[in-house]
Amino acid sequence: AAAVVWFRRDLRLGDHPALAASAARARRVVALFVLDDALLRPAGAPRRAFLAGCLRALDHDLGGRLLITRGDPTRVVPRVATEVGATSVHVSADTGPHGRERDTAVERALSGLGVKFVRTGSPYAVTPGRVVNAEGQPYRMFSAFYRAWLGHGWPAPAEVDASDVDWVEPSEVDISRASPEEPAAGGLPPAGERAALRRWHEFLADRIDDYGHDRDRPDRAGTSRLSAHLRWGCVHPRTLLHDLAERPGAGAAAFRAELAWREFFADVLWHRPDVARNNYDRRYDRYQYDSGADAEERFAAWTEGRTGYPLVDAGMRQLLAEGWMHNRVRMVVASFLVKDLHLPWRRGARHFLRHLVDADLASNQMNWQWVAGCGTDAAPYFRVFNPTTQAHRYDPAGDYVRRWVPELRAVPGKQAHTPWLLPGGPPAGYPLPIVDHAEERRVALSRFSALRDAS
Ligand code: FAD
Repeated sequence: AAAVVWFRRDLRLGDHPALAASAARARRVVALFVLDDALLRPAGAPRRAFLAGCLRALDHDLGGRLLITRGDPTRVVPRVATEVGATSVHVSADTGPHGRERDTAVERALSGLGVKFVRTGSPYAVTPGRVVNAEGQPYRMFSAFYRAWLGHGWPAPAEVDASDVDWVEPSEVDISRASPEEPAAGGLPPAGERAALRRWHEFLADRIDDYGHDRDRPDRAGTSRLSAHLRWGCVHPRTLLHDLAERPGAGAAAFRAELAWREFFADVLWHRPDVARNNYDRRYDRYQYDSGADAEERFAAWTEGRTGYPLVDAGMRQLLAEGWMHNRVRMVVASFLVKDLHLPWRRGARHFLRHLVDADLASNQMNWQWVAGCGTDAAPYFRVFNPTTQAHRYDPAGDYVRRWVPELRAVPGKQAHTPWLLPGGPPAGYPLPIVDHAEERRVALSRFSALRDAS
């Protein structure tokens, strides 16, 4: 019998339980990827380019036997299964709201044809929904989740030898093949499984021990930059956790905790799919945001990186150029949108999802909510990031800012963080701050207090 392994967020061959399950069940296997325009249309160029790179790499590792086709998976997947006489379709479970609905629809269509839809594993070390407290309830705070998640544990990596599988040649399947669009995008990390593992091994060898303190410095290459690879499943987090288990030290522990945040937020979204749009803490539904022409102009200035606050502008420009932004800077720009410009976190989150190569609904929406104060473990409402203090602390020599804001290249040292204080004002082409941070902080705090007093 034949089987289909339908790749989605698992674009690799190693440590792939769904692939192992398909090979155990069938003699011949079709490797399928479906380009779904409904998902790709809103994606920015770096994101589409990175996906194309991952698919190219996977196809290469499969000896050119990745069948890529375009269309609605509820129609395409059953069609491919019928074409090759498959009795089962294998996937890693998608645990996001859209993926769950889509998979239920595909499962229904397949069952009408007598084909089994088999979910094995997920993009997480512990599949969302499995870590619950003694009452069977999900955790609401990260620290408690983290302890329980560590206690739950995960199996050893699933080894499959993909070269032992008898892959079906795509030309044997009568369906139109597609190739992903490859828009030009600079600054992307090399895509695919081999690149992910290379990056991970370099990071383990050179940087993990300093990760605990370097991870907050956007001016240094102190983080792994594996988020996009994790997003597309070029590497499974369990593989990383397995390697980390053999590394003592604070750096390895800090990295494990970051991976756990990713799992925690996926778990939150699994239990509360509505938080993709809604405030996790519904008391914040009454928080007063700004609207109108002024608000629109401020939003445009934020997206384009011309707020007059260099750290914010550097981050927003890096996002457009590379589809990535350092975590510290993500927090600063998010806080600036919500607490200095008084605009809804959802708008910022949407902009991020469009442009981030690592765009992930759970991590993105829940980090935004954390910053906005309405999420789990929310930052206390009175914590308003000061973009200048943050810049001095985490980009002390101004190097990060000068890298991304060319107008400030001639401004030396940390003066680049306060161009409005230069004797002649900001260099030509760079704006004065569009708002006064101290003043907007007061506005935000009074709106937060109004909310608290009312609840
Ligand atoms: P490293 O520091 O090397 O961390 C290793 C891995 O741990 C990351 O690749 C990521 O998978 C995970 N991780 C680290 N920090 C977090 C975190 N705070 N929350 C969840 N997982 C984390 N991350 C995304 O993957 N996709 C998003 O769409 C996303 N949106 C964000 C939006 C905002 C407003 C903020 C503040 C953070 C967001 N993050 C998101 C989390 C974090 O910024 C990125 O995961 C990180 O910057 C990726 O770089 P890295 O791989 O070098 O991270």
